[in-house]
Amino acid sequence: MRDAGNNVVSAPGSASGQSFIAHAADTLAPDVRVCRRCLCRITGHQPDTVPADIAVTVVEAESDDCFVCRGVFRQLDDVSILPLEELRKWEYETFWVGSRLEFGMLSREKQIAEKLHCEPLHTIKADVNRELGLRISRHTGKMARMEHPDMLIVIDISFMTFQLEPSPLFIYGRYRKFKRGIPQTKWPCRKCHGKGCSYCGNRGKMYETSVEEIVAGPAMAATMAESHSFHGMGREDIDAVMLGEGRPFVLELWKPMKRSIDLSALRERINSEGEGRIAVSSLRYSSKDEVRRLKEETPEKSYVVRFRILGKINKEKLSAAIEEISGKTLAQRTPVRVAHRRADKVRERRIIECSLLEYDGDIASVLVRAQSGTYIKELVTGDEGRTQPSISAALNSSCEVISLDVLDVSTGADKLW
Ligand SMILES: [Zn+2]
Ligand SMILES: [Zn+2]
Repeated sequence: MRDAGNNVVSAPGSASGQSFIAHAADTLAPDVRVCRRCLCRITGHQPDTVPADIAVTVVEAESDDCFVCRGVFRQLDDVSILPLEELRKWEYETFWVGSRLEFGMLSREKQIAEKLHCEPLHTIKADVNRELGLRISRHTGKMARMEHPDMLIVIDISFMTFQLEPSPLFIYGRYRKFKRGIPQTKWPCRKCHGKGCSYCGNRGKMYETSVEEIVAGPAMAATMAESHSFHGMGREDIDAVMLGEGRPFVLELWKPMKRSIDLSALRERINSEGEGRIAVSSLRYSSKDEVRRLKEETPEKSYVVRFRILGKINKEKLSAAIEEISGKTLAQRTPVRVAHRRADKVRERRIIECSLLEYDGDIASVLVRAQSGTYIKELVTGDEGRTQPSISAALNSSCEVISLDVLDVSTGADKLW
């Protein structure tokens, strides 16, 4: 769990009279008072087994006189009510509480533990969080759960302020893209970086829309989320279509007010909005873990690339030259067309299959099955010698790519997606 207690910002002006150093001068008097609750937590004793000769003065449980807790447990009924009204606005099933305690409380607990030569199993912070969790669970009927809670409630007990941190909602799906010229993610204007300028016609972006925007629009509306991120399993070129079963993606929705949504209705809404451009399928709930796996995956992909050959060549020779590339490993230096935004390096990618589908006039269609991350256009053109081998070099003719289609993103039958 995140230690959310450390990143709470309390509302400006609240309880401003409280001093952070009020207890800094505490020293351990020989008759220091510790309440029964804190003593049991620190020593691990049950209330009835606390030895009589213990080196502190034992006072009533949760007493204001306790050197450690200063009666904080008696405030928890009031504290637990703080977030209830705000919580009612959100849909969640599970929650966890993180608290920020009065300055010095943890170090006072440590001082007592040292004096008694104990290594506490739980800190006062964990104790308070648990108590708040029980109370809030009673008020709301929701379940307190430390692992992947839908809602994290961060409470500053000194200042009586709180903050809600709803966990993101993850939705998995696959998309197909039928129309060229649509990027996978929103591409901010390279001149104004999103503010809007004359270069981008005040849109703040380079392209009218993106797969991300078409998918996220209806999803944001359905979940009433604040923002989103789109995680694709790889990406295709802007001017490539994406066919077959579609490319896996996970949409991450930030601060969703609604979490249980009708996914088939969402699919229909996305597909009617994307009509003729993109379509999604296989929508289901997902997780942060799946996003990580999706990013690590390096699937094979199949493409059909069409290109023009500048120069005459007979079909048999063409077919032989293309098949020669099957099974070869390419050395690809970062292409000129992306060099401005990607590091310049040489990467190796394997071509699993390369075969001629059609040759008509001077235009060839070739099926390529390649490792993820292969630059297919450069496999055709050779990119001025930066990709080797290449179809252009094998034919000893210049080639111009006309279109590139992604047929399939193969992910293996044993995978979750
Ligand atoms: Zn105490
Ligand atoms: Zn602009």
